Amino acid sequence: MGVAGVTDVLTLAHDPMRMSTSDVLADHFHKLVNSEVRRGAENGVNVHVGLGVHPRSINDQVDTTLELLPDFVAHPAVVAIGEIGLETCTTVEEQVFRTQLEIDYYPKVIHTPRRAKREVLERIIAIVDDVGAKDVVIDHIDPSTIDVALEAGTYIGITVQPGKASVREAVGLIIEYPEAKFVVNSDLSSQRSDCLSVARVLRALTVEGYADRAQKACVQNGRDLFLR
Ligand SMILES: [Zn+2]
Repeated sequence: MGVAGVTDVLTLAHDPMRMSTSDVLADHFHKLVNSEVRRGAENGVNVHVGLGVHPRSINDQVDTTLELLPDFVAHPAVVAIGEIGLETCTTVEEQVFRTQLEIDYYPKVIHTPRRAKREVLERIIAIVDDVGAKDVVIDHIDPSTIDVALEAGTYIGITVQPGKASVREAVGLIIEYPEAKFVVNSDLSSQRSDCLSVARVLRALTVEGYADRAQKACVQNGRDLFLR
């Protein structure tokens, strides 16, 4: 990524393994703020971190993790809370999501699921509104959910990754909705991913004559939100 001109990345807590206890989750957080930041620095990339309990990482010790989370996010590499969100809208998921939305100061990155995406997205927006959370990115939005996401008035994350949006779909959305605040991302994870997908969207938009929008959606909106 450094070779391709990427200077800064944001890596987020997710569910790379079975998060069976609060200790496993703590070790995941520890790896992000230590090894991942160091690995980036060794390769000329500034790695910034978002921490949080992903809805698929909730276990029966989640209260312990939530108690420790404010201490974890005080680490200087941490610039966001995320990924947080809902997967199936259980009562516990909604409680964990709401608790993390209420943590002050940090922008939040919100996961939306593959299944029942529209319904879950509507529930997410209702909770974001209810909490009054500011500086929120609702992520993994695609052509099938853009109409719902636009109503939220938040930043809209477009994940360009196999199984989520394609480069073409991202370009289409950014051209079609000039008023939206997009944050294009690659969601590099243990799933099949393309570490240059944001650069590909930036280049495709620029070639098609939308250099300003490309800069905003692929670079500046993320900088404004996470590196202020
Ligand atoms: Zn996600």
